[in-house]
Amino acid sequence: MSSLNAPFFSHDAVNTPYWWDAARPEAAEGDAIAAKTEVAIIGAGFTGLNAALVLARAGKQVTVYEADAPGWGASSRNGGLLGPGWAFFDTGMHYNESVARRVVEESFLSLEHVKDVVAKEEIDCDLNFVGYFKGAMTPRIYDGLGRYLDRLQKAMDCDAYLVPRSEQHAEIGTDLYHGGIVMPGYAGIHPGKYVKGLAEAARRLGVQIHSNARVSDLKPKAGEYTFKVRGRDVTARQVLIAANGYSGSLLPHLKRRIIPVGSGIIATEPLPPEVMDRLMPKRRMLAGSQRVVTYYRPSPDGTRVVFGGRVLDMSGKPKVDTANAAYIRSLMLKVFPELETTKISHYWHGQLGFTFDHLPHVEQIDGIHFSGGYNGTGVARASWLGSRVAHQMLGNDMGKTVYSELKFNSRPFFNGKPWFLPLAVWYYGMLDRWDQR
Ligand SMILES: Cc1cc2nc3c(=O)[nH]c(=O)nc-3n(C[C@H](O)[C@H](O)[C@H](O)COP(=O)(O)OP(=O)(O)OC[C@H]3O[C@@H](n4cnc5c(N)ncnc54)[C@H](O)[C@@H]3O)c2cc1C
Repeated sequence: MSSLNAPFFSHDAVNTPYWWDAARPEAAEGDAIAAKTEVAIIGAGFTGLNAALVLARAGKQVTVYEADAPGWGASSRNGGLLGPGWAFFDTGMHYNESVARRVVEESFLSLEHVKDVVAKEEIDCDLNFVGYFKGAMTPRIYDGLGRYLDRLQKAMDCDAYLVPRSEQHAEIGTDLYHGGIVMPGYAGIHPGKYVKGLAEAARRLGVQIHSNARVSDLKPKAGEYTFKVRGRDVTARQVLIAANGYSGSLLPHLKRRIIPVGSGIIATEPLPPEVMDRLMPKRRMLAGSQRVVTYYRPSPDGTRVVFGGRVLDMSGKPKVDTANAAYIRSLMLKVFPELETTKISHYWHGQLGFTFDHLPHVEQIDGIHFSGGYNGTGVARASWLGSRVAHQMLGNDMGKTVYSELKFNSRPFFNGKPWFLPLAVWYYGMLDRWDQR
């Protein structure tokens, strides 16, 4: 952690997630790596820990290997927005309507899964179903949202509804948008507390979670799998890779299919209640309609604005972090110009795992299980698919998921380095500007 320096930062601003103030990932120390385990899970985020819970409950001996501390990855760095995946309908339609329906159905099951696991494991993580508002950047986009809603309502029951610009201030204190769409089933969660609670629950069930335990040299050997951790050779009967956007170096197959993409978030200092009441009157989860995504929300205690967007660079140097934070702050000021003099108390970033078909994938590579590629919407889906892949490892029917049936393709000239991202961001940014002309 280093402190951040720019006039818009508070004097004690830090480059760690706001969520870490309440739930910092902590590395366990002094644990020895055993030479054998029944099930090895690589990565202690939503995917790995949800899988660990299912496997441990089924009586398996489970060891989780985490390169840093449990929850260190995207799972303690995200915005904590989770909702019914109406938006995934169009993505699923790239295949066909049956896939699109199942993708939406599974998104509802994902939400239910999070609700259940939070209740069952008694995780105190501010899970609140507050709904979501997405603002249209132009009147044409607002009309497009209406057509999208018609399409959805023809295909399935859908309780989303449009809010015209004249009524927008009941949803959000901005004049930036030309109306928008409300999705009532959306929730917000404190991701740091959620992932910490998952790790505690897994430990209670006897799961061994190693910190500072980066896995390398993973390969199949004589019906089992071998790998190295802290210089030690380990053998496991089954392996799950649950490293999502950080999977790159584990297997060449994944390196060619998971596109690591950086995303950053800022949090403001606490704001007076009357300001929060004006900016976020319903304390909903929020987003703009731009292709280059912006998403935001109130902190769970309703006192701060937490605002996310793309990063310019992920090197994590104070100067770069300051530039990233300045850029995201500029996006926030477009929505809420009155925050011009509000200080930023936290800036952080993390790595998303994108795929070329914009959908997650659950599959086996030489018998090694994998679930990932949540495309920036993994709070519910990583939790759900972590539990599904665990059922697959147990040979249960409950492991069935549409995400195991879709072909997981790469593209020519991609080998883990997303060289095309600046081009894609420029292109989509240009389309956004064209929309707003
Ligand atoms: C800034 C940001 C904002 C986001 N906002 C949202 C949001 O609002 N809503 C939403 O639904 N999703 C959001 N996401 C996406 C969501 O956080 C992820 O999809 C989800 O957390 C993925 O969980 P995971 O367990 O698969 O991966 P991660 O949480 O990334 O965990 C992977 C872990 O694997 C470990 N690892 C990697 N390699 C190795 C190795 N070789 N050996 C051992 N361990 C290894 C890493 O250290 C890491 O801790 C956001 C992500 C980011 C970064």
